[in-house]
Amino acid sequence: MAMLGGPLAPYASDPAQGRGRRHPEAPAPTRNDYQRDRDRIVHSTAFRRLVYKTQVFLNHEGDLFRTRLTHTLEVAQLGRSIARSLGLHEDLVEAIALAHDLGHTPFGHAGQDVLQACMAAHGGFEHNLQSLRVVDVLEQRYPAFDGLNLTFETREGILKHCALRVARWIEQHEPGGVGARFLARSQPSLEAQLANLADEIAYNAHDVDDGVRSGLITLGQLGDLRLIARFRDEALAEYPALAQGPQRRLLFETLRRMLSAQVYDVIRHTRTALQQHAPADAQAVRQAPPLVGFSEAMRADSAELKRFLMRRLYRHPVVMDTTERAKRVLRELFEIYVDRPQEMPADYAASPLRERAVADYIAGMTDRFAIREHVRLTGTRLFRSTD
Ligand code: MG
Repeated sequence: MAMLGGPLAPYASDPAQGRGRRHPEAPAPTRNDYQRDRDRIVHSTAFRRLVYKTQVFLNHEGDLFRTRLTHTLEVAQLGRSIARSLGLHEDLVEAIALAHDLGHTPFGHAGQDVLQACMAAHGGFEHNLQSLRVVDVLEQRYPAFDGLNLTFETREGILKHCALRVARWIEQHEPGGVGARFLARSQPSLEAQLANLADEIAYNAHDVDDGVRSGLITLGQLGDLRLIARFRDEALAEYPALAQGPQRRLLFETLRRMLSAQVYDVIRHTRTALQQHAPADAQAVRQAPPLVGFSEAMRADSAELKRFLMRRLYRHPVVMDTTERAKRVLRELFEIYVDRPQEMPADYAASPLRERAVADYIAGMTDRFAIREHVRLTGTRLFRSTD
């Protein structure tokens, strides 16, 4: 099967046919609209903070673990690579991938759980929606508007999930906008579907790598998983010496083969789905079922790996201990800022929607800034010094 990319496919998103920006702007002389979105994202403040935000392991626990930034770059790499092969718009996939975690709280999912609980009575908190809020409202760099004024297609991709209640709220403020598809139960662009899947492919592989590096899971345990066993056996059959040396090289080769197999599986399966449904253009994609995906077998194997990671890594006692301390840091910060908004920068303190302003402020923090603020405001140090 030929997998190298060619020209843009008819069902790809074409910036010339896009729905544009909320505040009209003249086109850039040398860049298409999705390149321009990508550049705005890379230059944003929220993007730079990703380097000091947790993926699974706290940023300062080791220099070699993924951070939100390196995770984001891996998602962009996988997304672009698959997009090129399928004739999708690489720049759009890249823009969505680079922005997809901008709204992530410090301390990974622990942070999201805390803000969800704290905001339950104040409109809720959800990290996809927060990523959209970052690019729509919170970044303040342009004289004529708040946010980055990204195209509809990039914003649509950033909002990958959305509760119906929230979709109705968005629909009121932006009729026919990025909330509409959740109400109509239609699909986003193929590029958005792809960025979403690239996220999953990236974290499954790199969480295995980081998990083994941390010592919390072993290659031996992973051998019970179909996906890992298959590629480990393949690697050993081709390079029997890998059984003797340090296990890291065997792990790398196993993961490398797994990543490649998943990428090729997505390309093959998606090509077949595109042939079957034959969407005439990017608009027709939205009325079709989801078209970018794994084959049935790969989906089952990937789900098995995900379940393993959930049980053995994300809920490992060592990770849970960090998680509990991280939750306490953010919960206490939330209470203190609601009580004493003057502890926040003036523009947050002045907001009439106090809880929302506090959630925005906390969500934007890096891990180490949250830890420092917590020490400053409570005198209690729950994590070792990060300076
Ligand atoms: Mg992600």
